[in-house]
Amino acid sequence: MSKNSPKVTFASAQPKELRAEATLPMLLDRMLAGWKFKKRFGGKRVAIKMHLGGNVGYSTIHPLLVGRVVRAVSEAGGIPFVTDTPGGVVNARVRGYTSEVLAAPLVPVAGQADKYVYLRRVRYRTLREIHIGGAIADADAMIVLSHGKGHGHSGFGGAIKNIAMGCVDSWTRGQIHRLMMAKFKWNKAKCTGCLLCRDNCPGEAISFTDGKISIFDHNCRYCMHCTTACPTNAITIDQRGYRYFQHGMSLATREVLRMFKPGSVFYITVLLDVTPFCDCWGFTTPSIVPDIGIIASDDIVAVEMAALDLIKRENFIEGSLPKPLRLTGSGHLLQQVSGKDPYIQIKECIGQKLGRENYRLAKMR
Ligand code: SF4
Ligand code: SF4
Repeated sequence: MSKNSPKVTFASAQPKELRAEATLPMLLDRMLAGWKFKKRFGGKRVAIKMHLGGNVGYSTIHPLLVGRVVRAVSEAGGIPFVTDTPGGVVNARVRGYTSEVLAAPLVPVAGQADKYVYLRRVRYRTLREIHIGGAIADADAMIVLSHGKGHGHSGFGGAIKNIAMGCVDSWTRGQIHRLMMAKFKWNKAKCTGCLLCRDNCPGEAISFTDGKISIFDHNCRYCMHCTTACPTNAITIDQRGYRYFQHGMSLATREVLRMFKPGSVFYITVLLDVTPFCDCWGFTTPSIVPDIGIIASDDIVAVEMAALDLIKRENFIEGSLPKPLRLTGSGHLLQQVSGKDPYIQIKECIGQKLGRENYRLAKMR
């Protein structure tokens, strides 16, 4: 780490004093004020890219905090809008994300029909095209406002995941997932017929006929919800393509970031309600570490590294993991939860020269 390393600012969730000014929303205000939003966003259409969650999940970023980010952009003379996948936008209201509350419109990244995209060609295994959401491509600048949490498919869900999977259409998401080349195995002797795999499948890919499982590959999103939910490990997925998947994510991230001029993308990662699973699953389980705070940077690699450094194994809350999960193996806490190394996606982005891993952490007072 040197003086020239990218800066990551950190607003802690733990107040130093018991007054409103020392708590997170106001620390966030002061933190954003230090990042010269007028220069970055003045006069620009600013996409605030979020994962707005789904179904009965309640651990996405609190609307009050989103509103502070929107306000900071507006006060800097920018024109903010909040954006996510069409499904995310449709269901956002139940979590309190409305244009009235946020003071910004909510816009689907690729239009309501998920078809308004800009095509970019890549050449990597089966991945040949990235379809970037038109709302993202048309923006002048972007704030990647991410909820940092575990992820069954990539170890960590933060800024890289928010861009690679969230700034593209569902077809591209499927193509990137397909790089996993997942092969399912089902052990009939271990199966109790509880149907938890089927009921937790977002793609309705799993069905049972005469007690025998059938997985319709075309509908599968390779999210691993079925393997995670299975209480007896009766269903497993060969994951040799994990690295390919992570590389695909780095390509999508690179192509999205190429739509913007240097210095036009800013990252805010909220490390509250650090759950073991992604918000895409549509429900919330307990946080596995105490609330950490909010970090911000203009370097995607630095902000991801800082997030992982702040989610510490020693802060793990015993009893927080839902059954049948338990910490296994070694490595980062999130790896011990999901079995996926969360650093691989970051290494792939370093390989694409998207940012630097050594950073300076500046704590807000
Ligand atoms: S990996 Fe996900 S989408 Fe595929 S069968 Fe399992 S739960 Fe369904
Ligand atoms: S969750 Fe596991 S045990 Fe239950 S039906 Fe599916 S494969 Fe069988």
